[in-house]
Amino acid sequence: MLSQESSLQLKSKGSSLPEREPTVPLRERAWVEIDRGAIAHNVGEIKRHLSQKCQLMAVVKADAYGHGAISVAETALEAGASWLGVATIPEGIQLREAGIEAPILVLGAVNTPEQIQAIAHWRLQPTLCSAKQALIVSETLNQLQKNLTVHLKLDTGMSRLGIPWQEGAEFFQQVSHLSHLQIGSVYSHLATADSPDPEIMNQQHQRFEAAIAQIKAMGFRLPKLHLANSAATLCDRTCHYDLVRVGLATYGLYPAPHLQGIVHLKPVMQVKARVTQIKTIPAGTGISYGYQYIAPRDMTIAVVGIGYADGVPRNLSNKLQVGIRGQRIPQVGAITMDQLMLDVSHIPDLQVGEVVTLLGKDGDHQFTADDWATILGTISWEILCSFKHRLPRVISSPVSASGHENLLRSGQDARTPRIL
Ligand SMILES: *Cc1c(COP(=O)(O)O)cnc(C)c1O
Repeated sequence: MLSQESSLQLKSKGSSLPEREPTVPLRERAWVEIDRGAIAHNVGEIKRHLSQKCQLMAVVKADAYGHGAISVAETALEAGASWLGVATIPEGIQLREAGIEAPILVLGAVNTPEQIQAIAHWRLQPTLCSAKQALIVSETLNQLQKNLTVHLKLDTGMSRLGIPWQEGAEFFQQVSHLSHLQIGSVYSHLATADSPDPEIMNQQHQRFEAAIAQIKAMGFRLPKLHLANSAATLCDRTCHYDLVRVGLATYGLYPAPHLQGIVHLKPVMQVKARVTQIKTIPAGTGISYGYQYIAPRDMTIAVVGIGYADGVPRNLSNKLQVGIRGQRIPQVGAITMDQLMLDVSHIPDLQVGEVVTLLGKDGDHQFTADDWATILGTISWEILCSFKHRLPRVISSPVSASGHENLLRSGQDARTPRIL
């Protein structure tokens, strides 16, 4: 039932909560739940798959794929990751401002002196992809009288960021002569590591090896090398080198069906919302915009407080299934901006305020980002990133000393409990 705020169950860290339900934010109509224990579990599983000398970079770009960058970064570092990967400078600054001291690689491009100043100030580590860019970085650092560790990116076949691999060794030599720069690593990125056919991945791997061999032949001592994303980390140990850059698997999803079970992963994110109204409608009644669904019989429908402005894609209309009380329930009619409707004819005495699971576990049912991606013809990465900040991130921490769940709301400082 939708209770009054005075009966909020939220407690601060260390206090006890009822064993399972209700540990949900009673003021919210919809929210994203983040399971810190699952992050720690996944990081531990991935670490076990790596050799002793291979480090793990948790890729926390795009607000940790929608999971909340600060709490994911802290949890992953505690669980054994030693690097963080971000796409942009502001993403790196956000982590530094939260007091995170681990090395942070900026995977995206940085070109202007202003960007390099920010990188140097916040002790981030940039990716370099061209001689011109390296020169600007060196000159800017000279003005600042600061030094910086940089990472050289080779394009071995992704045709995205990176210097063409054939020019990799020459680029390495050029950068090695520039002042204020220290080469921290040479890396590349794979285009097809999630394919069951390894041919293209192997070709990229060989090109990477060829460039490395040339650098070595020039007499340089090799810096760290890295090549693998989640898929390559799972499918090919020869791609591990000194460091693996793992995004998706940190969040508990497999990059492809054939990679399932190589390590055991637990989904980290759940998306939940509340029933806000229940009504019966006679056969023949149209539901939602455009009457895309006409009730074939007398029906009981539930209105739920979540919609496409929260990140539930409208193209899931009439295809989405959700969980209530451990049952699989069909969504009916067009998904609207803030609300959607369910056919709850088979749930007697459903109550306003009850929780609907859109993604996550409900009874024996698991509702996954992969299910949504399959329906929509996209990938689970895009589904995870699609949930808007209108949905509060509620961080559950079953790893606390008391053994009870703590629920925090993520925000500027995810470590400070706040009333929801
Ligand atoms: C995003 C990204 C990753 C992580 O990819 P996953 O498939 O999510 O593991 C690794 N490396 C680079 C360069 C990236 O941009």
